[in-house]
Amino acid sequence: MRHDHLITSKQLSREDIETVLDRAAEIAAEPEAVAGTYEGTLLGLLFYEPSTRTKMSFETAMKRLGGDVVDMGAVESSSVSKGETLADTVRVIEGYTDALVLRHPREGAATMASEFVDVPLINAGDGAGHHPTQTLLDLYTIRENAGLDDLTIGIMGDLKYGRTVHSLAYALTNFDTTQHFISPTSLQLPREVVYDLHQRGTSIKEHEDLAAVLETLDVLYVTRIQQERFPDKEEYRKVAGQYQIDVETLEAARDELTIMHPLPRVNEIAPEVDGTEYATYFEQAHNGIPVRMALLDLFLGETDE
Ligand code: ASP
Repeated sequence: MRHDHLITSKQLSREDIETVLDRAAEIAAEPEAVAGTYEGTLLGLLFYEPSTRTKMSFETAMKRLGGDVVDMGAVESSSVSKGETLADTVRVIEGYTDALVLRHPREGAATMASEFVDVPLINAGDGAGHHPTQTLLDLYTIRENAGLDDLTIGIMGDLKYGRTVHSLAYALTNFDTTQHFISPTSLQLPREVVYDLHQRGTSIKEHEDLAAVLETLDVLYVTRIQQERFPDKEEYRKVAGQYQIDVETLEAARDELTIMHPLPRVNEIAPEVDGTEYATYFEQAHNGIPVRMALLDLFLGETDE
């Protein structure tokens, strides 16, 4: 990988993706081989929005590599509440740490922040924009369960505000995939994303009804309706509760179907699905550790790939 920062999955080539996934697979197979290799390395965590998995898995990944983290903590208890700009904050924290992980409610925040720092900056989600590290663990999970080429995937839910969807859709254009997007019309993919996907030569189709495609899918990627991004709560109420799946919905699915979700789920997947062979979302979340260890290794280390 030859990147200064990781901002969006658009910047990732097939080779970049395979480098990360192969390294993650090596680490997953033999974690003790890298334990302690980054002793003395410090990762700065700047989370301006809630996070459980992303933040804790970056912390776990850094610690499993022997390093440590420094965490800005909650926005309310930091100088952000005194009016400090993001540009100033990242310029200060880069002096304390070897790399930065940033989550921010504003789309484009990671791009802007990266222009002010020399240490690697990793985008851990910028508003409704992108979430490239989630994409890498999604791709890892897809590769393990269904393979990345000759793949038919359905991506369902909030395609408008779901940053994990945008990142995944772009990254999948590096592979031979057919992408079906299932949502209410009001939550369809942004038109510029549709345009870009067509430009990249990927086969995409949009649907309002899962039943239209379910039986053709290798992977069904379910997402949460992003309540916090709706400018109008009434609009949220209109679509909340749509696009839920349960065991009955899945009757038409292929036996090999892999169901994924970036989590947290609200009510999109009934708990009864958890015990089926389809459910892969907890495995997907666990894959965040080797994938983020691999990423940190590639950004911080000497690995010549
Ligand atoms: N955890 C994911 C994200 O930060 C998905 C979600 O919040 O629905 O984008």
